[in-house]
Amino acid sequence: MTEIIVGIDLGTTNSEVAVVREGRVEVIPVAPGVRILPSLVGVADDGSLLVGEAARNQYALHPERSVRSIKRRMGEFTSVQMAGKDYSPQEISAMILRRLRDIAEAHLGEPVGKAVITVPAYFSDAQRQATREAGEIAGLEVVRIINEPTAAALAYESCHSGARKALVYDLGGGTFDVSVVNLESDVVEVLASHGNNHLGGDDFDQKLITFAIDHLRERHDIDVGQHPLAMARLQHAAEAAKIVLSSEPYATLSEEFLLEKDGVPIHLSVEVSRNEYEEMIEPYIAETLDAVHIALSGAGLTVADINEILLVGGATRTPLVQRRLEQELGMQPRAEVDPDLCVAMGAAIQAAVIAGGQAPTVLIDVTPYTFGTSALNYFNGEMYPFCFVPLIRKNTPIPVSRSEGFCTIFDGQSKVDIHVYQGEDPDALNNIEIGRFTIEGLRDAPAGNPLITTFSLDVNGILQVTSREKETGLVHSITIDNAISRFTGDKLAEARERIDGLFGEQEGADKRPAATTAEASPADDSRRLRVEAGALIEKAERLLAKAGTEDAEDLVNGIEAVKDRNNGSDADLKAAMDALADLLYYLDA
Ligand code: AMP
Repeated sequence: MTEIIVGIDLGTTNSEVAVVREGRVEVIPVAPGVRILPSLVGVADDGSLLVGEAARNQYALHPERSVRSIKRRMGEFTSVQMAGKDYSPQEISAMILRRLRDIAEAHLGEPVGKAVITVPAYFSDAQRQATREAGEIAGLEVVRIINEPTAAALAYESCHSGARKALVYDLGGGTFDVSVVNLESDVVEVLASHGNNHLGGDDFDQKLITFAIDHLRERHDIDVGQHPLAMARLQHAAEAAKIVLSSEPYATLSEEFLLEKDGVPIHLSVEVSRNEYEEMIEPYIAETLDAVHIALSGAGLTVADINEILLVGGATRTPLVQRRLEQELGMQPRAEVDPDLCVAMGAAIQAAVIAGGQAPTVLIDVTPYTFGTSALNYFNGEMYPFCFVPLIRKNTPIPVSRSEGFCTIFDGQSKVDIHVYQGEDPDALNNIEIGRFTIEGLRDAPAGNPLITTFSLDVNGILQVTSREKETGLVHSITIDNAISRFTGDKLAEARERIDGLFGEQEGADKRPAATTAEASPADDSRRLRVEAGALIEKAERLLAKAGTEDAEDLVNGIEAVKDRNNGSDADLKAAMDALADLLYYLDA
């Protein structure tokens, strides 16, 4: 039997311990159903030591008896006070490590004496040494200290896919780091790192707290900032609303009996939309993107050199983070390994390798396809009714449920067609329609009546799509069995051809506007054709860069033909587009 070495992510806000057993990576629960230990320690009323959740709960009321974010002090020759006594940062960290060790021993039923511990890539020698000492104080031999981005790359198994360069984007509760790593035959090297030690999900909470404070001031003429207990509750409410906004288009910040004014209880209940929230946090995200470019230039690389983006840290679940990264770097970030746990998992994988076991694989159930709907929006600078709106992105762990807000576009619109597509193309008509339904009987309201559409995909591949009128709760839904297994491998291409064929036969009769759109008119068809022509030209131009001389000549002729006919009849344009599409098909193959 190989000896047990655990992997520990000793984080600023949270810590985790993981182990590899029988070839599987397991993050050990710290309490039933909970795998994350808040990195706080404290002393209770009765003098007993509190670590984790209990210390966090008392922090708001007794900060003098609690210590948090000790990781920021590691490596300093300083001490912190807790309940009137002085402790070194190593000692405080050791209390967290000791608790994790005890939890691991209880779970595994045997002594745990060795660990791999992760640290940020920018940690100095002194900070690494202090981490090692903390381990020793906790009774753990620290067999290796590894960089957090290295651990993340191990968890994502990026190093098994040949020589690559990855960008590890780590946005936690209170810190942000981005690292450029080079992965080559099982060796992970951090080429450059950049970040901000005081930026993270807590700042997002703060924006929502300010929003609630302003609301209460306007509504009740009261300053919550003066009431520490109410502020502590507001903090929880804000974080809860923030987490809801990662999967829902609206959230309500609510706390009953938050405080009293002149003997009258004041309840907080204020709705915030994802759009409003994204506006609040956009400057923070922009700052992280600046850091991405600094790290890239530090590594002497450009965006084009990066093969993949790996997401680490709970705050990367924020949809705006993923969207902005995708816009900025032109690729969908990988988010399939739980961003809270992947550093601990990577540490455990490294530990298993040191212990002499096989490098294990992190097994995750993910959806291999993107699912979404369509709506009216701008496409190549024009309004277009079939813009694809992805709700569940490829490689998202399942089960998953995601909601998005839409609205009607006409005054008095009483029904909306919801189309369900599988695919990646920004033009929904290039994806595969796997279902549709109509939500009817909407209230008589001006344009802009909000609807919430939810896609829920379970582990058996059953996709349920529901649309709800926000104001009335009116609901319609559809269930699609085998949403995942329906199109595997080549079947996708086959199905696409079949669908293309059907569309061809019906001469566009079935190309009915989607989601929140009106009936398509001939003018719409003509406009759509021109949008498609634009997309085709773009695709052809992209291929042009890679094509050989002969093919390039054909491509240029094909592109010119489509461009020439753009102002002519639909039939002429369609003929030129078909010829170009044939050429692309041949070159793509
Ligand atoms: P970490 O330090 O990596 O554990 O990340 C903790 C941060 O992630 C905290 O600010 C959490 O509120 C935040 N977080 C956790 N889950 C989500 C979520 N679903 N959406 C947005 N932020 C989240």
